Amino acid sequence: MRVQSEAEQCLGVPEAALTSKAINARIEQGQPLLAFDELDLNWPLLLDISEKVTGVFIEYPELFGPAIESFKETGAGHLLTKEVVKTWLKDSSLPSGIVADNVNEPLLESIIQATLSPFLVSYSKALLGKVDPERWRRRYCPVCGGDPDFAFLDKEDGARWLLCSRCNAEWLFQRLECPYCGSEDQNTLAYFTNDEGLYRLYVCEQCKQYLKAIDLRQAESEVSLPLERLLTLDLDAQAQERGYSPCSSGSARSRGDKAG
Ligand SMILES: [Zn+2]
Ligand SMILES: [Zn+2]
Repeated sequence: MRVQSEAEQCLGVPEAALTSKAINARIEQGQPLLAFDELDLNWPLLLDISEKVTGVFIEYPELFGPAIESFKETGAGHLLTKEVVKTWLKDSSLPSGIVADNVNEPLLESIIQATLSPFLVSYSKALLGKVDPERWRRRYCPVCGGDPDFAFLDKEDGARWLLCSRCNAEWLFQRLECPYCGSEDQNTLAYFTNDEGLYRLYVCEQCKQYLKAIDLRQAESEVSLPLERLLTLDLDAQAQERGYSPCSSGSARSRGDKAG
């Protein structure tokens, strides 16, 4: 988060090239506002961030496993080509066959996600204010098309908002619908709360995926959602013990309705 916030400061808030007419048209069609060609990626900065991110990851072999060792010598920069980044932005996965056998793909995807985050977050800051929350309510991010990996219930009336796993955009979503498979069958949807009622774990029996959430009506102080995502790793462990998967694996990837 430190590396990312330094990079965000470096980037500032980009100019939004889209007119409000173009923005409205995309929102209407369910097309995220940011397409790869419109993303102004400062490549030297991107490689610099990837080096720092990889350096941080290497400090935590207990989190990332022995595979992180393979990045020690060469880093990840040489693997970050335009094609790799473009495919990841479009599909949240790597182009098939492009990565050498000895590269751990999930790990490389985590490095790409952490490296691109400052760019996507800065665009999200510029663009999100132009989205009318009532007119989106889809299962993917209005800014970058990413999947949600966290949620919150707002202070005012407990409405559920999703948080983008890639650009931290927040968008309003139905409380009684799975954001991964779209199931609205109340027999397949459930949630657990912790003792204080501050956190929730939404689970779906249809796609077997889970979503962590914080109920801001129960929060006593100011909350940083990107930080909460990391502070709630024990919820991930509980969910996975119960047999549910996080958003980054399984059916959310193969969704056919994502435009852009
Ligand atoms: Zn996003
Ligand atoms: Zn589901």
